[in-house]
Amino acid sequence: LPEDIFGERLNSAGIDLSDPLVLGPLQARLSELAQQSWSAEPTFPSDEPGEIAPITSPQDTRIEVGTRRDTTPAEVEDAITRAMAIQPGWDALGGEKRALLLEEAADLFEDHAPEFLSLCQREAGKTLLDAVLELREAVDFLRFYAGEARRQFSQPMPLPGPTGEENTLSLHGRGVFATISPWNFPLAIFIGMASAALAAGNTVVTKPAEQTPLIAALAVKLCHQAGIPPEALQLLPGAGEVGQAITSDPRIAGVAFTGSTETARLINQALAAREGPIATLIAETGGQNAMIVDSSALPEQVVRDVVASSFQSAGQRCSALRVLYLQDDIADEMLEMIRGGFEALTVGDPADLATDVGPVIDPDAQAALERHVARRQQNDRTVWRLDLDGSTANGCFVAPTIIELDSILDLRRENFGPVLHVVRYASENLGQVIADINATGYGLTLGLHSRIAATRKFVQARAKVGNFYVNRNQIGAIVESQPFGGEALSGTGPKAGGPHYLARFATERVTCIDT
Ligand code: GLU
Repeated sequence: LPEDIFGERLNSAGIDLSDPLVLGPLQARLSELAQQSWSAEPTFPSDEPGEIAPITSPQDTRIEVGTRRDTTPAEVEDAITRAMAIQPGWDALGGEKRALLLEEAADLFEDHAPEFLSLCQREAGKTLLDAVLELREAVDFLRFYAGEARRQFSQPMPLPGPTGEENTLSLHGRGVFATISPWNFPLAIFIGMASAALAAGNTVVTKPAEQTPLIAALAVKLCHQAGIPPEALQLLPGAGEVGQAITSDPRIAGVAFTGSTETARLINQALAAREGPIATLIAETGGQNAMIVDSSALPEQVVRDVVASSFQSAGQRCSALRVLYLQDDIADEMLEMIRGGFEALTVGDPADLATDVGPVIDPDAQAALERHVARRQQNDRTVWRLDLDGSTANGCFVAPTIIELDSILDLRRENFGPVLHVVRYASENLGQVIADINATGYGLTLGLHSRIAATRKFVQARAKVGNFYVNRNQIGAIVESQPFGGEALSGTGPKAGGPHYLARFATERVTCIDT
């Protein structure tokens, strides 16, 4: 097949972990990097620096991976002033030149793969497989948004001029964009949002999650090395107060945020309360994602996809499966098989290749998940848990868990970790199942395992979700092929990695020249 069968850009090939000639040297390099200490600080630190906080590893909280220097209010103010000053020049560069810089950054990211993989493991507790997938997605975002900048931001779009006038529409950056990113994709979502804002002609002040600033600092450093001016992309590490200082500044033209629905609401309120432009908010938030399995499904495929959707990445994906609906006449048999796959999971050190499930991000996340499981146990629900061994004692590990429920509506909030809930349903109640899923108010991912075309159409016509996956797992959306994002409580849209994303970061200008 010709290389360009899918168009000019191919997604990153990633790293083949099954090739011993690749894996051996990579693991040797990762053991060297395990000794390295990292730091994150504001791009333009002042003489009166903020607090220094240790960044510890979720796998063993006694291990310090590096330090985060928090951004002070004066540094936030100064960062936005610098970003404002350079934004017209950055916008005037045009789509083509910005694309070249982002593509150079993508190449540098691939060159520095071992450092990124090491940080994904040590700072965020990711398995090597998840770390490789994350780096691929980051590179894909950079290259995809570069292509979109070239396509949409290089030339004005000609419009009809019925009386002989020349009409054109051009897209420009809105100004200074703030990006506030989550710890669960500390590289891919961090750079995805920032690179989209940059591609569209904005300058960017970016606050990474307080738990994962080190990987963000490396990403920003490489972007600067690629030629993106430091004033155009500034790292502002810190906790929630730094985000608040940024979003309350009246000079911010827009915010791209990925995280909880509650925080998105607070950002929306902060933006509405301040002076200045009516700011754009692009938010990707939580989910209460379901999968429906009917009696026509292929059982082995279901087991593989349920286990991956619920427990890969320790369940810490917005897309992850939380509630599995099993048609009642196959439920006992399916559950038995799923438990077989579940019991084969290995929980432990993310640096160990045999590990399927690593730690959750921090002690707070661990405690919240344990409280949820304990409450369900008190309610006499059937609960299966894996046993953890002693090697996990100093980390934020949560034993993978399966809990039976009566309905998705018994859950009051998203449980962001390796906990799967199972509900039985009768086939004549499929309409009610979908109504209940919609009634959660979330609308991110939905899985369906069924070989019946009419069932697929029935579900597709009713489900209010952003990403609907049939006969496969429901995680790991691929940039450009499965643009990702939800609706209602799950986010504002537009979809990351999709054709409409950059336009939301831009403002449109029309010029009409009469003859
Ligand atoms: N895009 C990721 C996926 O499809 C999820 C992103 C997130 O967790 O926010 O699995």
